[in-house]
Amino acid sequence: MAAPNLNKAGLRSTPARQRILEYLNQHDRALALTDLERDLSDAGDRATLYRTLKSFEDAGVVHKVVGLDGVIRFALCESACRLHHAHFHTHAHFSCQNCGHLTCLQEIELPRIELPEGYTTDDVQLVFSGTCQHCAKP
Ligand SMILES: [Zn+2]
Ligand SMILES: [Zn+2]
Ligand SMILES: [Zn+2]
Repeated sequence: MAAPNLNKAGLRSTPARQRILEYLNQHDRALALTDLERDLSDAGDRATLYRTLKSFEDAGVVHKVVGLDGVIRFALCESACRLHHAHFHTHAHFSCQNCGHLTCLQEIELPRIELPEGYTTDDVQLVFSGTCQHCAKP
């Protein structure tokens, strides 16, 4: 997958932003702030990294996923995501109990569920837990 274009997403391209974007693009799974801290210490401190992820999220470049371990992770959005006015995700995620990786299951779309009257939602999450395809290989 080609890295999303920051300018197209309405963000100024800076070396730190570009590095973080490339890092996310090199992984086919969602990454936690601690992953970035470990591997990208030269791109900024924890607060800077978090601010960058937040600006990516606001611009529709990444989306947030909370795994069953309660850790917040970020995954790159599909390019189509940035066309939507409201940043809302309707695909499922998979949490592997063996390698601990959290991956997007873009092909699994969540069913549309009507909420009771008076409720409005801006996020919905479906996280499967088990063994991922990489760990299942003999
Ligand atoms: Zn998105
Ligand atoms: Zn796995
Ligand atoms: Zn996802």
